[in-house]
Amino acid sequence: MKTTLALLLNSPDLLLTFPWINNQEARVNTLFSVINPYTGDTVAEVGAADSELTAQAIEASENAFSHWKQVAPKQRVAILNRWSQLLLENVDDLAKIMTSESGKVFSQAQGEITHCANMLRWYGESLLRMTGETLPSHSANLRAHTIKQPLGVVACITPWNFPAAAVIVKAGAAIAAGNVCVLKPSDETPLIALALAKLASKAGLPDGVFNVLPCQNPEAVGDVLCAHNSVRMLSFTGSTNTGKKLYEQCGKTLKRLAFELGGNAPFIVFDDADIDLVVQNAISARFYNSGQICVGANRFFIHESIHDKFIETLTAAVQQLPVGDPMAESTFIGPMINDRAVTRLNGLITDSLNKGAKLVLGDVSSNEHGVISPVILSNMNASMTAYSQEIFGPIVCVYSFNSEDDVIAAANDTDAGLAAYVFSQNYSRLLRLSESLEAGAIGANTTALFSEDIPFGGIKQSGIGKEQGIHGLEEFVDTKAVCLGIETSN
Ligand code: NAD
Repeated sequence: MKTTLALLLNSPDLLLTFPWINNQEARVNTLFSVINPYTGDTVAEVGAADSELTAQAIEASENAFSHWKQVAPKQRVAILNRWSQLLLENVDDLAKIMTSESGKVFSQAQGEITHCANMLRWYGESLLRMTGETLPSHSANLRAHTIKQPLGVVACITPWNFPAAAVIVKAGAAIAAGNVCVLKPSDETPLIALALAKLASKAGLPDGVFNVLPCQNPEAVGDVLCAHNSVRMLSFTGSTNTGKKLYEQCGKTLKRLAFELGGNAPFIVFDDADIDLVVQNAISARFYNSGQICVGANRFFIHESIHDKFIETLTAAVQQLPVGDPMAESTFIGPMINDRAVTRLNGLITDSLNKGAKLVLGDVSSNEHGVISPVILSNMNASMTAYSQEIFGPIVCVYSFNSEDDVIAAANDTDAGLAAYVFSQNYSRLLRLSESLEAGAIGANTTALFSEDIPFGGIKQSGIGKEQGIHGLEEFVDTKAVCLGIETSN
């Protein structure tokens, strides 16, 4: 029987519900439910991979590697381009799948798929420019050069908040560079990962190059991926706590690691900033994906002389944001991923109010359909949990400051180092702060940090390595030195 979601799709065959190994479904007996966060309905019953199936997927990918690493880069690029094209041709179906399982609003889900298509194209173009070097020789009878080679089996573990982009940024780059992949998506969002894999096979990706293992208990798959000697690398995006656990587990086989973890971004506004520009960026940095973003503006530090004007202008703008059904075209803020998230966010609001915060905007009594209407809290201070914890929801927390040195110290007063934003019309100040703020990505008079050609990644406890850009592709290759002894005369 077709599910309700299948009836909404132009190509219902994109709706896979079993682990995907060797370009086919692995029919398992244990199922788990994927729930629509807005309606509470079951979107699909999905087959759960276990440790035995994980070992089989690793073996399938090892077998595929012996062929895939020999495929000429131009042929790989042709497959990536077809894959990219198929994403664009199926953008609405893919967005419906994503919205149904994650609650991401439809227009943003469409945007995420387009970004995925751009990434696949860009990785292909960059792959053709990824070259080795001829090195100056230190000896007359030695010649040396470097070559870049794929690693082999790359494990990818991805979160629910960018359930397509996190898959493509990893698997797209790894596969472009000649590796093979075993991916474990979040148990909240397995369907979009499976649909992307299905389109890869339609694009001509050979059997075993990209395998996807949904599961409800993450350890069932994760423990095998981390322990297996043939898995050369783990590319992980998720919370810092999970990252620390996986870091330890991967130590035993000393895998290469690329980790994208949680953030606690400061959003600093000086008294000379353009307030309209600030408010427009504050909305995208706090309310995009209903606030569930790693680079979300967690702590708004506003210069005391413009504090009241900022709150007034922001409140007026936020009141206009359409909130509700994520499938509706105009909606900007949809539901939280699950009830646990709603409870956690209400806890953060209560903790702040109990410690002296002022509720400027928000009805904290109603969370129908898992939706939290925008909340603005002022009078925040460092004793509140929201100061040090990633908020991950539509809550603006406003702190005030009066000196550049103080605000830099407060902004850096966190273990996280993912993104930081600063707004001012003084370009010397923007440059000073870009150098002083401890974050892997700085937005100076902008919050647009994401593009396929710009490297992204955290420092401190927000991550290891980069994604996107040429740096992102380079994470997935070994640079091998080749030294050739020669006779200087014949
Ligand atoms: P999470 O850490 O709970 O889960 C992430 C993934 O890890 C999921 O697939 C989950 O099933 C898996 N996982 C959890 N425990 C595991 C274990 N013991 N072994 C193997 N796998 C395990 O994170 P989440 O709630 O899905 O995502 C939200 C978090 O991700 C936030 O902290 C956010 O900041 C972060 N994030 C970071 C970036 C970035 O680029 N830095 C991007 C998106 C999300």
